[in-house]
Amino acid sequence: RIFVYNAGMKRAYNFNPGPCGLPDEVMARAQDEFSLYQNEGASAMEILHRGKAFMDIYERAHSLLRELLGANDDYAILFLTGGATGQAAALPLNMIPDDEGAAAYLISGHWSRRAAGEAKKYCRVQIVADAADNGHSALPDNIEDAAEDAAFLHYADNETIHGLEFFAPPNSRAPLVADMSSNILSRPIRVSDYGAIYAGAQKNLGPTGVTIVVIRKDLICARPQTPMVWDYRKQMEHDSMINTPPTFPIYMTGLVLEWAKKEGGPAEMARRSEEKSRMLYECLDEGFYRNDVASSCRSRMNVPFFLPDESLLDEFLDGARENGMIGLKGHAVLGGCRASLYNAMPVRGVRCLTDYMRDFARRRG
Ligand code: PMP
Repeated sequence: RIFVYNAGMKRAYNFNPGPCGLPDEVMARAQDEFSLYQNEGASAMEILHRGKAFMDIYERAHSLLRELLGANDDYAILFLTGGATGQAAALPLNMIPDDEGAAAYLISGHWSRRAAGEAKKYCRVQIVADAADNGHSALPDNIEDAAEDAAFLHYADNETIHGLEFFAPPNSRAPLVADMSSNILSRPIRVSDYGAIYAGAQKNLGPTGVTIVVIRKDLICARPQTPMVWDYRKQMEHDSMINTPPTFPIYMTGLVLEWAKKEGGPAEMARRSEEKSRMLYECLDEGFYRNDVASSCRSRMNVPFFLPDESLLDEFLDGARENGMIGLKGHAVLGGCRASLYNAMPVRGVRCLTDYMRDFARRRG
């Protein structure tokens, strides 16, 4: 097996923002079952989605996600395609009866801004606050009330690029719709606080290709012109199988959910996330590196940071790779570096990173 970098092996500590590293144990199990799933005579990706073996895989993933989130039967849980980007368009199409209707958007960074832009094609959009006003260094504190006729207030619980995270859902008279793509299952939440939650799988849940939507059933009012694959009611009535679902990503997501449950679920993931992010922010605050986000809303999942001089960037990244760490280059929107610390990142991976960073700062400081 080639799974542990620090045993001199090839699998690096993976700080990519998504797709990102998945738990070593999950990869080992998937490898074992890759070409032969149980007694099926075929891989999980080669069997019929409506057959018993795959329906069992689906049901297991579905019920584990319901259990780990703590979602009751008032909520539908859907496994869809199209990424979080697809859902940014599908949400107004499913929650607002026509394009005269309105939704409120709280902008805290790139992804919430993009979701608002997508929604403008399908409804009236009210921007209740915008973190661009403070250079995305903090969450906005002067959030307007959603308009009386807003069907929902959309926000991103964690901004993957700007590294801003909410530690309590914003107040809103309208039902909340949360993009949790980059922090789902990283801490316990109260699902009843939300009208809908959505997330691309490719960070805390599995590989790219499947997208999760959790939505209060009574809020679904799909417009007739909503594409069938994104019609939440139809998908709810067909076990997310109105068309061929992304079977292998769903299988992988099931394995990740089993792992997350065995490790202690969202409460344990929260404990680890707290420890990992604290280690990294402490290192950043020693002075050589810089992170510009206010301490009250620094993300536990995505930590953007800058070197004192951008000309050191390539040397920093090359050295990280030589020391078994990949995925540290920042998003083009911000430049610099970014370390993503999703559930699969072990504490020892962050120790490896902070040791390397301190050593680099000593040599170049
Ligand atoms: N929202 C957030 C918070 C994200 O991090 C991302 C992707 N990184 C997206 C939306 C877009 O997701 P997708 O690529 O799955 O469409």
